Amino acid sequence: MSSPIFGQLETSLADYLTNITYRAQFGDEQAAALVARLELPRVVDALKAVLDEHTPDAHGRCPSCRTRRFGRAPAPCRAYLTAHLCLVVTEDETPEETTAPMRRQVAYGS
Ligand SMILES: [Zn+2]
Repeated sequence: MSSPIFGQLETSLADYLTNITYRAQFGDEQAAALVARLELPRVVDALKAVLDEHTPDAHGRCPSCRTRRFGRAPAPCRAYLTAHLCLVVTEDETPEETTAPMRRQVAYGS
């Protein structure tokens, strides 16, 4: 169970996102245009701010997603992967390129 403060933050953010989504999808043309002109740039700024927290280091690893004190940070960052999958990958594309585990090339003999 989340803390009451986080619960309020989570609820207000979820309500905001539900509200603008509803107005964009089901509102009249003026309501949809207002969402596009006023709210969409705010949402983009919010996403950029979140992704700024996950800017990879010189080795492509995210310092914010480090799971253990001395563990290696994941690469690529989960926040970037999620944003990419939600916003850039279309249904026509296969997500294999971003979600399939990388296979290590093994050299036998020399
Ligand atoms: Zn990250």
